[in-house]
Amino acid sequence: MLTAILQHGKGYHEMGPIRPPSEGKDRSLLLRVTRNCPWNRCEFCRTYKNKTYSLRSIEEIKADIDTVKALAEEIKATSWRLGFRGYIRHEVVTAFINANPALYSRAYNDPGTVERRLESLANVVHWLSSGARTVFLQDANAPQIRTADLVEILRYLKETFPTIERITSYARSKTIARKPLEDLKRLREAGLSRLHIGLESGCDEVLAYIQKGTTAVEHILAGKKTREAGITLSEYYMPGLGGKKWSKRHALESARVLNEIDPDFIRLRTLVPRRGTPLYDRMLAGEFEPLTEDEVVEEIALFVEHLDCHAYLASDQMCNLLWEVEGQLPGDKPAILKTIYDYLQKPLHERLKIQLERRLSSYLYIAGHLNRDLAADVEAAWDAVNGQSPDAPVKVQKVLDAIKPAFI
Ligand code: SF4
Repeated sequence: MLTAILQHGKGYHEMGPIRPPSEGKDRSLLLRVTRNCPWNRCEFCRTYKNKTYSLRSIEEIKADIDTVKALAEEIKATSWRLGFRGYIRHEVVTAFINANPALYSRAYNDPGTVERRLESLANVVHWLSSGARTVFLQDANAPQIRTADLVEILRYLKETFPTIERITSYARSKTIARKPLEDLKRLREAGLSRLHIGLESGCDEVLAYIQKGTTAVEHILAGKKTREAGITLSEYYMPGLGGKKWSKRHALESARVLNEIDPDFIRLRTLVPRRGTPLYDRMLAGEFEPLTEDEVVEEIALFVEHLDCHAYLASDQMCNLLWEVEGQLPGDKPAILKTIYDYLQKPLHERLKIQLERRLSSYLYIAGHLNRDLAADVEAAWDAVNGQSPDAPVKVQKVLDAIKPAFI
């Protein structure tokens, strides 16, 4: 058992730091085909800051796929041995770990290796338990790889795991705009079924300001080409990214660009300026004025009002305030707008209450608890909101500023 798992590598498959929430929900296998981001300059992003981009060799990636296969086979065999008929239960995973101290015991391995092996095992277990159907290729821009190499990886994946139905990855519009349509079709035929593209904005001033390295024209070209190749397209719009200066243009231009592309999904991912990013420094210097929660909702209203396409609008990111702003366009547009207008028409203290409740529940989900200073600020904010005090907006904002940078 041990030999089979270690035969192809290090006893784990390498994974990068992030994946879209929808891939988490579908329990996708995470397979790292490149490391970090080849661009790495977007001013709001800190995911790969100070990390160098590199390609992984095809041999390394295939060895990871073989490791996943060996792990999957041994976990299933353990399930049958224990009488669970191939089903992946907690008892199966515990028995598997206990039966392999040479892989998972800190007595024989350094802690970092054990941690990576356990993370890899957890990913494989979740994937198996959901039918081993979806795979997400990491990191930030897998189509950057030579098309022939990516085709070889996709084919090997599908040959190794016939259960796979969907393979997805993040992509940059710049890269896709430059790729010949024929290459995208080859990738589709080899199994690449969905791309997640960070549009962020369709407004050229905003794209230049945040150094996206892509223009609205390239976004449109990349999006249309992806659709023409038969690849499902998920585009991310970032409410708030234009700050107060460009909010309106950001919403209108983004809607215009997305209408031209007509993607399968539009996903809202509200800007949260994070410490350690150039945009955060600009905000501290007073050069970038962020929107308030209500201004972001107003911007989303303007954006949705001007959408005229057939995408599914999703709000599946923790950084969004109104998670219920979701639906299939164009049919659900009136209901989506009603949800937004209902929020905006609530009295101020009710809106503040919603902001506090939702942001705190997300924060507690990540952090587990409030430290003493934050707990005192939260209590003061609740008192002000419940007492409808005039300083409630300031006290709520203080709490939001403290907790939102923790959001993923
Ligand atoms: S392309 Fe994506 S991963 Fe790279 S810096 Fe921009 S937002 Fe971050």
